Amino acid sequence: MSTASFALLPSTTPAADAVRDNILAAPGFGQYFTDHMAHVRWTLDAGWHGHEVRPYGPLTLDPAAAVLHYAQEIFEGIKAYRHADGSVWTFRPEKNAERFRRSARRLALPELSDEDFIGSIKALLAQDHAWVPTPKNAADECSLYLRPFMIASETFLGVRPAREVDYYVIASPAAAYFKGGIEPVSIWLSSHYKRAAPGGTGFAKCGGNYAASLAAQKEASDHGCGQVAFLDAVENKWLEELGGMNLFFVYKDGRIATPRLTDTILEGVTRDSVLTLAKDEGLTPEERPISIDEWREGAASGEITEVFACGTAAVITPVGELVTEEGPIRLAAQGDNEVAKRLRTKLLDLQYGRSEDKHGWLT
Ligand code: PMP
Repeated sequence: MSTASFALLPSTTPAADAVRDNILAAPGFGQYFTDHMAHVRWTLDAGWHGHEVRPYGPLTLDPAAAVLHYAQEIFEGIKAYRHADGSVWTFRPEKNAERFRRSARRLALPELSDEDFIGSIKALLAQDHAWVPTPKNAADECSLYLRPFMIASETFLGVRPAREVDYYVIASPAAAYFKGGIEPVSIWLSSHYKRAAPGGTGFAKCGGNYAASLAAQKEASDHGCGQVAFLDAVENKWLEELGGMNLFFVYKDGRIATPRLTDTILEGVTRDSVLTLAKDEGLTPEERPISIDEWREGAASGEITEVFACGTAAVITPVGELVTEEGPIRLAAQGDNEVAKRLRTKLLDLQYGRSEDKHGWLT
């Protein structure tokens, strides 16, 4: 693949080594940013142009920029991992590039090529690789979180697809997402709020979906839960996903099921990887509709032995209980989440270069 060439405007005020090391020692999530960002501009007349890596810093947007009013915006989330030999790798970036194009089409934004998507990440990492934290041991899930995003920057208050668009990649060092590590999390079942509807934007990674999930997320935290699960908007019966992760169910007969993809579910890169790794492990993956009744009954009968959520940020996290307005759903046969832990270790070993990349997933 030819990499688009990104002009470099180096930062004149990069963080001092000691400051960066301090941040990398305890980065948290999404609080600190590297010295540079990648940028490509698009206009209806000129297409994509002006590829550059420039100092990280505030954007200048006209108050009438379309994105501020109509939320014409999409984004991605992907991590860079440092291997033991010091090299830096991303995991299946072509899947994120493909999803970014799918999101762009739905939000009437211009599509960015794989070359520019992956090229922008490479160009930023070439400059800011020192910001990729070095894991202290196999339990240290630190990484550099990359956030590509595209906004309608045209100054225009009419409602139509923007004719001027900007694409950026910013990067933020990250520690493990959930402080509790692989402790099972409690999840709130949103019975009132919906995340997505058929024909809507659920399958796209656009800011509006997340804005719409915040009231439900707040309801979740008011009930002591870290995440919220959404049911479908038509029958209020079928499990879709969490606010920021896909869901899996493990059955005592070796099946492992996840809701089949529809236009209301975001296709996770981790979800797809788990389906493949589960097969490698001799499990039987299934993608099909899964109802809340199946969860309730399978949990009570012991048929379902594990539930877990997965996504780039938190990898694989066991779900301890689903809190609903009718009371909690807990697994009668809740064991030690052996399958979730095994798949999690397999995925992390791949991402951190501790096992052979036999699917060719690392770039
Ligand atoms: N669903 C939603 C709504 C998400 O925001 C995410 C995170 N991108 C996921 C699922 C998981 O996707 P991935 O495995 O690609 O991170």
